[in-house]
Amino acid sequence: MTDLHTAIRQKLQAAQRILILSHVRPDGDAIGSMLALGLALQDAGKQVQMVLSDGLPATFKHLPGAEQIRAQAEGEFDLIITVDCSDAARAGPALPPNRRPDIVIDHHLTTEAFGELNLVDPAAAATASVLTRHLPAWGLTITAPIAANLLTGLVTDTLGFRTSNTTPEVLRQAADLLELGVDMSTLYFRSLVRRTFAAARYWGAGLSRLQRSDGIVYTSLTLADRQASGYSGRDDADLISVVSSIDESEIAIIFVEQDSERVKVSWRGLKPHLDVAQIAKQFGGGGHRAAAGAEVRGSLPEVQERVLRLTRRALNHE
Ligand code: 5GP
Ligand code: MN
Repeated sequence: MTDLHTAIRQKLQAAQRILILSHVRPDGDAIGSMLALGLALQDAGKQVQMVLSDGLPATFKHLPGAEQIRAQAEGEFDLIITVDCSDAARAGPALPPNRRPDIVIDHHLTTEAFGELNLVDPAAAATASVLTRHLPAWGLTITAPIAANLLTGLVTDTLGFRTSNTTPEVLRQAADLLELGVDMSTLYFRSLVRRTFAAARYWGAGLSRLQRSDGIVYTSLTLADRQASGYSGRDDADLISVVSSIDESEIAIIFVEQDSERVKVSWRGLKPHLDVAQIAKQFGGGGHRAAAGAEVRGSLPEVQERVLRLTRRALNHE
């Protein structure tokens, strides 16, 4: 084992009360990775709290251990771990101010080394892939409930094994997890296919304003759309997966109004040579070459104007 893995193993062994955090607007990899690591540490006799500042989205309520996830931490901890989180701000208010996480486990290209120990593998398709590879070396066992969570991370971050970083290793990991008795078909359906009626109506609002210019296909989702549709999250309900499937475009963007002063922006690069993480970084965000995001200050019209201008510029410079 490398020094890093020896150090991680020692920290995990020495800790008794462990806090696991992930990012705001959590996705399947954030939740699956948190639950997999949390359940594995509980099986090893640790007290574990799993906290998501935004709470658990309804899409993932079926995951083993999901009922344990809470929105706020309570009590003291001797170890804090973040999963799938590229910087301290992404962890949201659940990360105590002025406290560095002890261990950061992630796979983003733009991740800062903001923990004491940083296990970051940008080549990995998902944080769940990093965990699938390393949990056994840390003395932790992958049981069937843990496998279901890991597989959910793999399936969601690769959009059902469709992204260009779906390597032979990811497929081998999925096969190994399946052998532990996981029902992949049901997990796949629940996390990637099934959606609520409210989410479909929310999509409708966004799709009705869809626009395309200069190779950029984009739309917005507003607070009013969420109210009218009854959609309770503050994300795009994965509308980006529809918008990024539109032909004859180079970049897809969705603007999600958070409040009067903040807009969540998602970029998807639709051509292999594009690196949208570099555009997101200009707005204080990050992510991967093909998929990136940022939370940008300003009203929806202001942010839309600035982001479209800089994205056009980035396209012209390619
Ligand atoms: P999405 O657009 O679906 O929210 O995220 C796409 C990718 O960009 C994901 O890998 C996600 O972790 C990353 N990302 C999204 N928003 C932010 C952000 O505000 N900051 C950073 N650093 N990364 C983000
Ligand atoms: Mn994530």
